[in-house]
Amino acid sequence: MKLPILYYGNPILRKKAAPVTEITEEIRTFVKDMIDTLIAADGSGLAAPQVGRLIRIFVVRIVGDDEEGWAAYGTPTVFINPEILSPSTEDIILPEGCLSIPGLRGNVTRPLSLKVRAMDIDGNIFTEEVSGWRARCIMHENDHLNGVLYIDRLPKHVRKEFEPHLRKIKSQYKK
Ligand code: ZN
Repeated sequence: MKLPILYYGNPILRKKAAPVTEITEEIRTFVKDMIDTLIAADGSGLAAPQVGRLIRIFVVRIVGDDEEGWAAYGTPTVFINPEILSPSTEDIILPEGCLSIPGLRGNVTRPLSLKVRAMDIDGNIFTEEVSGWRARCIMHENDHLNGVLYIDRLPKHVRKEFEPHLRKIKSQYKK
């Protein structure tokens, strides 16, 4: 089932999400709904706060980089209570967009690679080394769990250029 996506301006997007204490049937259904929502929206990733739940879960559809250096899509991975470990000192600039901030894209500097540790939907802990677009998507979604949006990481002058559009989103999607 597709869930409604929250947009920039909604205070839930600025709150810190709580860890998942138990993977219940309800959580499993919710994760399925998150995946349905992500695919329907044709996004790269989706974090639980973006659909109104302040719990530490995100799903990512980017599986790696393709031969031309663009993001390659595949079966979504579920990350529950994720932890970002050992980010590389080497940074990379990549363009980011966000399903909660429609119509905008901005270049963001972040580490090139990192390790992520998380729980899967069966409660198993896994660790993965990621780089490129997949790493980028994981960092973007992980930010959502802490109430951080990619626009917060833009240089000041770029953020300023974004302001009129951001205000428009805020007013357009206000309940
Ligand atoms: Zn986002």
